[in-house]
Amino acid sequence: KFNFCAGPAALPEPVLLQAQQELLDWGGRGCSVMEVSHRSAEFTEVAERAEQDLRDLLMVPDNYRVLFVQGGATGQFSAIPWNLFGGEVQSADYIHTGQWAGKAIKEASRYGKVNIVASSEDRNFCYAPAANAWQESEKSAYFHYTPNETIGGVEFNYVPEVKAPLVADMSSTILSQPIPVEKFGMIYAGAQKNIGPSGIAVVIVREDLLERAMAGIPRSLNWKIAAEAGSMDNTPPTFAWYLSGLVFQWLKAQGGVEAMYQLSLQKSAMLYDFLDRSDLFSSPVDTASRSRMNVPFVLADDRLDARFLSESEEAGLLNLQGHRSVGGMRASLYNAVPVEAVEALVSFMADFERRVA
Ligand code: PLP
Repeated sequence: KFNFCAGPAALPEPVLLQAQQELLDWGGRGCSVMEVSHRSAEFTEVAERAEQDLRDLLMVPDNYRVLFVQGGATGQFSAIPWNLFGGEVQSADYIHTGQWAGKAIKEASRYGKVNIVASSEDRNFCYAPAANAWQESEKSAYFHYTPNETIGGVEFNYVPEVKAPLVADMSSTILSQPIPVEKFGMIYAGAQKNIGPSGIAVVIVREDLLERAMAGIPRSLNWKIAAEAGSMDNTPPTFAWYLSGLVFQWLKAQGGVEAMYQLSLQKSAMLYDFLDRSDLFSSPVDTASRSRMNVPFVLADDRLDARFLSESEEAGLLNLQGHRSVGGMRASLYNAVPVEAVEALVSFMADFERRVA
């Protein structure tokens, strides 16, 4: 069976097998990694290795801190203004590209002024605004965008060039391509797509930005406290951290993010090419903004939706239903989804189209 869920998503099978083997007896200790103190030397090694592997994979420069935090990407929607509005400027620029950008905007508006410098709401968020279609504000504490909108399947094909610290929600795209970390002030991602199980999120933040927190910031959202405590100011989700570490090792063995990027191009092109040839299925997203990770698609006759979903499920192609807020279908093609899954999906869709013609 192949899992196309948008998150929590499929994990690489070798990682799950290793975790299964180690579940009751982790490295001969006679207990699970979950039962070992987060302050022990053994767990410290797991935590440090995970951080180093992530740094290696993304080539994170030394002046950036890598944090493993709780509260998901949603926790970071609020953490960002709390951590960055403490200086002279309490306003920030945001690009609005859909549901996740929208949530981040709403949250930041509770703490300061949000300038929406570009939005694709005019066409129901089916594209990412072009680089020359917006201008950043004269003064802003940071500039936020969502490189990949998981629900809409809209991906930026460029990194915004801005003066303010660039902040990016990379929840559904991290580790799927090389990124110039040095162009960003802060990157965050919920783990449950390309990293590991839910319950942990990754923050990569430039060191100088640790000094801009608002007075009264909740302790659990404070990046500086997390950085100083090695992400262990309180008990971290140790199992999720361990499993994320196994995924990083798996990624390295696969050839790292460049290999994942090439695979993502191959997998998504296969599906988009089929959608563009099909009379029954189509993509609602502008060609230049189509996501490599999340591919929404619709049927020309939505009365066939239920049949498509039940037959695809029977064929072992799981979780193709689109997000409840937009309907239609969506195939998420994260790193752990093999090429064979997309081949099976395309061949099922072609067969379905023939049968209902
Ligand atoms: N941002 C993006 C782009 C997402 O896809 C998601 C979840 O799917 C979130 C934020 C929210 O993440 P979490 O559930 O970890 O808070």
